[in-house]
Amino acid sequence: MPQSSTPLDSIKDDHDDLVFLDEHPAPASGDGVPRVWRVMIIDDDEDVHSTTTFALGNLDMQHRPLEFVHAYSAGQARELLKNETDIAVILLDVVMEQDDAGLHLVRHIRETLKLADVRIILRTGQPGYAPEIDAIRDFDINDYKTKSELTRIKLFTTVTAAIRSYEQIRAISTSRRGLDQIVRASTELMSLHGVHSFSAGVLAQVAEIITMPPNGVICVKECPDGETDALFVMASAGAARRIAAAPLAAQAEPEIHAAMQRCLAQARNVYEPGFATLYFAGKACRDFVAYISLIHPLSDIDQRLLEVFCSNVSVGLDNVELVSHLHNAAFYDQLSKLPNRTRLVEILDAALAGPGRDEATLALVDLDHFAETNDALGHQFGDTLLVAVAARLQNSLGQQLTVARIGGDIFSVLGDAGSVNPVRILALFEAPFSIDGQDVQLSATLGLVRLSEHDGSGADALKDADIALKRAKTSQRTGHFYFSRSMGIEIRERVRLMHALRTGFAKGELFVVYQPQIDLLTRRPVGAEALLRWQTEDGTFISPDRFIPIAEYSGLIIDIGEWVLRTACMEVVRLREAGHRDFTMSVNVSQVQFRHPYFLDMLRAALEDSQAPPEFIELEITESMAMEEPDLLIKMLAQIKHTGVAIAIDDFGTGFSSLSYLQRLQVDRLKIDRAFVTEITGSARGSSIAEMVIQLGRNLGLSVIAEGVEDERQAQILQALGCPLAQGFLFARPMAVPALYDWLSNDLLNRAA
Ligand code: C2E
Ligand code: MG
Ligand code: MG
Repeated sequence: MPQSSTPLDSIKDDHDDLVFLDEHPAPASGDGVPRVWRVMIIDDDEDVHSTTTFALGNLDMQHRPLEFVHAYSAGQARELLKNETDIAVILLDVVMEQDDAGLHLVRHIRETLKLADVRIILRTGQPGYAPEIDAIRDFDINDYKTKSELTRIKLFTTVTAAIRSYEQIRAISTSRRGLDQIVRASTELMSLHGVHSFSAGVLAQVAEIITMPPNGVICVKECPDGETDALFVMASAGAARRIAAAPLAAQAEPEIHAAMQRCLAQARNVYEPGFATLYFAGKACRDFVAYISLIHPLSDIDQRLLEVFCSNVSVGLDNVELVSHLHNAAFYDQLSKLPNRTRLVEILDAALAGPGRDEATLALVDLDHFAETNDALGHQFGDTLLVAVAARLQNSLGQQLTVARIGGDIFSVLGDAGSVNPVRILALFEAPFSIDGQDVQLSATLGLVRLSEHDGSGADALKDADIALKRAKTSQRTGHFYFSRSMGIEIRERVRLMHALRTGFAKGELFVVYQPQIDLLTRRPVGAEALLRWQTEDGTFISPDRFIPIAEYSGLIIDIGEWVLRTACMEVVRLREAGHRDFTMSVNVSQVQFRHPYFLDMLRAALEDSQAPPEFIELEITESMAMEEPDLLIKMLAQIKHTGVAIAIDDFGTGFSSLSYLQRLQVDRLKIDRAFVTEITGSARGSSIAEMVIQLGRNLGLSVIAEGVEDERQAQILQALGCPLAQGFLFARPMAVPALYDWLSNDLLNRAA
């Protein structure tokens, strides 16, 4: 070792043996994290190194001794600093290789290596080499001393002050980094859905904040019925991964269990040797607690950062809990705890996209007459019964099937075709359900759809099953029905047509045509039947036989029917103004219109507004309609008669009206259905039914009209049988208004000629 030539020589002698203190590095904690203050001496004078280590050798701040790193030139220092990041203080000689080598090194440390925390004390042997004041400020130099100034005591206090300053700077940057981390953590955690992934995220973020690898477990304290120590594992990480998401067993993890209980009891973070337990205050006695294994004790800053983090996260956990709760309410039936319709649609979507699609079948299970049971035995009883049905379906059909409750008394079963078998499912209802000691016998109807036969979405599959279910209910045969592709096409077409009709009506695509009715004897027109037509935008005509049932089914017929009636009434008025004064207008009325509570008001208003004389208006109701709810009909017809309009029974002969019933109905006319008119010339039975209707009319004093008269022979036979009126292609086809006027004036001309 070179001889020392520094002012520190004077104190060196006492402790020569301590010169090599640095060769016995200070203890580091087991994980390799230094628990020392590292001081770097950069000086080309070897004596300075030994005197410095000697002077500072027994300095111990906060139980952390010093550890020295030596460099004997600026170049060597540069090399060493490439890999040294946790140097607290650098004692730097200004003059080394060059006069200002030290100053260049400072610039390198601050600007290139970006080591901002390390404290730098400049030393120089020659007072003349003092750096400029600017350099001291710009490069954040703690102190500048000539070597002669630095007595042992001075060096001691200077380094102590520098270490303290280094510690504070580190604390500030650690907490800034920690707070940044907390902010980042909060945003990251918020994007995680579900309490489990959120919890896993919390473990990861804690590890980031304390800069240790993730290792721990997070639990929620459930307090069902006063049992306070039930902990449920939400997530685990690192070595604690062995702990599964299930109730935390006190016997299996006694240390963790006890530590968590202590933390929960104190309702705050607890730091113990080797681990920390973090407390996250939750709502409604659902607190969260995390057990974090520590590699080394946490600094004050880490602890403070964790406090901030925990209170931040508690808010987040509450939100996640709420979201999970809402999710649960949105996707699960609260009564049976089974997936609900929304969830089933998701499951179906997944099944349709998955590999098992071709084997999968969906069955809707509708409980027969459940509403009656519910009404008779009370809703609470009904609820218990539904829960019992849910349990039986789930327990008997096996876990690999998905059982859901998709409506009041409708369940669904999804699984492979072998298991979702109608015979098997219906057999489950053979044994009664025992509710409150009472045996309840239930039966069910099934609508099934094979997913292989299905091209649409999960929601469509459910609709298809629903269609099959409706079919099963109306057919009343085997109690189940499989959806077939053709059924779907038919129904979807009807739905399409319904939308088209609604918009078509609004856009004026509907219009009324008039088919003349004539007196068979004189062959003169007596009136016309108003018939509805629909020509779509592209020019196609859609037959009333197709769209009227859809209008009835959708309720559109209320508005459309009113519009037809008003149009027909106005036409009567115009015809009268044109000289056709004895002209009667027949308007078809559907059952849906007839049952509408405002039908009579509507009729009166239409007559009033159009000023059409009621005696020239006739309403046609079908015979099948006349057969339903006789009492209501009798009352209705009486009221209609009051308005002055006439009533005809359309398609007569197809229904089963009894004579006595007909007598009670106040009708004016019977309309012989076209089928019986055709029969007159076309079948062996000949004119028998037409003849019967004509006689019936005569006996009851009712007018009779034959419809669908297509040829002269039919007209002559009908006339011979005594039928006074007729309507049919033989005389005229249904015509739009201008054609009707032409036809009527031609008729007059012909007659005049
Ligand atoms: P409907 O009331 O029995 O009307 C008679 C139907 O027979 C009309 O068919 C008419 O065009 C057709 N027809 C008339 N003469 C002959 C003939 O000689 N040969 C043949 N083959 N057919 C003949 P359309 O117009 O297609 O109407 C069908 C049904 O649609 C009507 O039967 C009626 O039930 C219903 N409908 C038509 N318009 C309306 C309406 O405005 N309201 C309601 N509720 N139903 C209507
Ligand atoms: Mg008719
Ligand atoms: Mg008819």
